[in-house]
Amino acid sequence: MTTIRLPMMGLVVLIGTTGSGKSTFAATHFGPFETVSSDYCRGLVADDVNDQSASTAAFDLLHHIVGVRLARGRFTVVDATNLTRSARASLIALAKEHDVLPSALVLDVPTQVAIQRHQARTDRPFGVDVIRRQRAQVPRGVGALRKEGFRNVYLLDSEQEIADVEIVRTP
Ligand code: ATP
Ligand code: MG
Repeated sequence: MTTIRLPMMGLVVLIGTTGSGKSTFAATHFGPFETVSSDYCRGLVADDVNDQSASTAAFDLLHHIVGVRLARGRFTVVDATNLTRSARASLIALAKEHDVLPSALVLDVPTQVAIQRHQARTDRPFGVDVIRRQRAQVPRGVGALRKEGFRNVYLLDSEQEIADVEIVRTP
């Protein structure tokens, strides 16, 4: 069992490829309003959670929602792939702006697992090459993410580790 400690006054950034299980993990461990997802925001601005052309608007909205929540002291989790440094940097900046601690939680499953899950889905209209490309972007070290500004960094790098997690919110 891995105990993950997350500051109650905090922002949690999930990181992982499509199919790594971010939304499933969030639904298991966090409240429905605590989690703000890029899918939901794409849906709100484009009526289509897969419309990549709506990404700029969707992330503007996501950042706005996250900022409003943090301003009100609400524990907030970002459910998006967050695989680029710049995607993470804008979230770290939001946490700083609102004086809360940013945590990173990396869900890293073997490429084959993500591919199998992807192939079983009917809600993602793109090929498995995307997963291979994304997997290469998954941060592997705690150090680099800490350097980016994440205060707590957890790397869960197997299905078993992801399953055996206990989340404790700290004051
Ligand atoms: P995306 O970035 O595309 O939104 P995601 O990281 O949110 O992907 P999920 O939607 O949570 O991934 O999971 C992808 C698929 O894998 C879903 O069909 C889900 O039911 C399945 N899945 C997720 N976690 C597990 C798990 N621990 N064991 C078995 N299947 C899982
Ligand atoms: Mg998801």
